[in-house]
Amino acid sequence: MDFELPPDDDPRRLAVRSWIAENPKPTNRQIAESGYVVPHWPAPWGLDADPIHQLIIDDELKAGGIRRPSNQIGIGWAGPTILHAGTQEQKDRYLFPLLAAEEIWCQLFSEPEAGSDLAALRTKAVLDGDEWVVNGQKIWTSMGHISQFGILIARTDPEAAKHNGITYFICPMDLPGIEIRPIVEMTGDHNFNEVFFTDVRIPAANVVGEVNNGWSLAKVTLGNERVSLSSGGVLWGLGPTAFDLLDKVRAEGGCDDPLVRQRLAELHTEATLLDLIRFRTISARIKGEQPGPEASIRKILADEHGQHAMALAKDLKGAEGMLFGDMTGARDTWDFGYLFSIALTIGGGTGEVQRNILGERVLGLPADPVSK
Ligand SMILES: Cc1cc2nc3c(=O)[nH]c(=O)nc-3n(C[C@H](O)[C@H](O)[C@H](O)COP(=O)(O)OP(=O)(O)OC[C@H]3O[C@@H](n4cnc5c(N)ncnc54)[C@H](O)[C@@H]3O)c2cc1C
Repeated sequence: MDFELPPDDDPRRLAVRSWIAENPKPTNRQIAESGYVVPHWPAPWGLDADPIHQLIIDDELKAGGIRRPSNQIGIGWAGPTILHAGTQEQKDRYLFPLLAAEEIWCQLFSEPEAGSDLAALRTKAVLDGDEWVVNGQKIWTSMGHISQFGILIARTDPEAAKHNGITYFICPMDLPGIEIRPIVEMTGDHNFNEVFFTDVRIPAANVVGEVNNGWSLAKVTLGNERVSLSSGGVLWGLGPTAFDLLDKVRAEGGCDDPLVRQRLAELHTEATLLDLIRFRTISARIKGEQPGPEASIRKILADEHGQHAMALAKDLKGAEGMLFGDMTGARDTWDFGYLFSIALTIGGGTGEVQRNILGERVLGLPADPVSK
């Protein structure tokens, strides 16, 4: 871990500051058009920024109190896949609205019998003229009910081997034949959905990449999903950090119980280790090296760390922690986080599947028989 951010008068810092001075309250569209949403993307959507430039932009936007548009699946997963394999028309049509969060995206990958073993998917698409006719069912579609588009993978060659014969589509969520049914989570929120397809007609122009080559693109999407889910915070970056919890305990007078102190110390150690792994990954990228196994290891550790942090927060609330929120039904971050943290080791590839990947790719152990 050996890098320092450039000094205060670095021209790249000054450029961001002068943009903020001209746009003190930018709209999402203005932030998207500045290239600051995903600075390492190529122009006109990004600035081809190297890792140091990205860190400078992060720093300066934070100092200027500017929040980037929020569209996790669109910006984090659909966008990079369209950039990688989309046609020029697809890039022109979808990327700016997605970066500005004017159009929200969801991911139509998992099925009732195809989660970890995603290539077992059975939703099928059959070409009819210049449209694909889709039939089947997806599940766990986060934000499906508020999305304008979904990235969809469907089987287009039933005769081909399992990982072949899958095609990657951009699916408008308002097409006739799409039915979205809510799944209410144990947090009480509705974020997930089941999505049913009955003779849904998707234009052939919405295929991303080549027909029957969707599995290689799904791996691009999942690669971005795992990196993004392993960054920042204890709830995939959505919630507070372990350090926030430790600050709160300190602010409330500390803690005398030796067992709880031990758990707090363990949590501090985990959080510090995760930070160091993150810095090592950034440092490797800055030096032009490919990140090593630490990026994959980080996803496993970070998700379990999130569960430890939230369980400790809940225990620290004592008897009050047994109640879910107050009499009006309001909940605090820690109540919500405790319940949501269970999902961390499932979404984006379960902890067991991540360990299989590490075993095979890092330790060189024999392949998981199921994945063949
Ligand atoms: C918060 C959250 C958001 C999500 N959002 C989306 C979304 O937007 N779009 C979408 O398509 N999906 C989404 N998912 C679904 C997610 O990708 C799947 O839940 C995940 O891939 C696991 O699949 P599954 O639930 O079918 O479990 P299964 O694959 O049935 O696994 C069940 C259990 O068996 C274990 N297991 C399975 N295979 C192996 C193996 N080979 N070796 C060892 N153990 C194994 C698993 O680790 C797990 O413990 C989301 C999930 C969560 C939790």
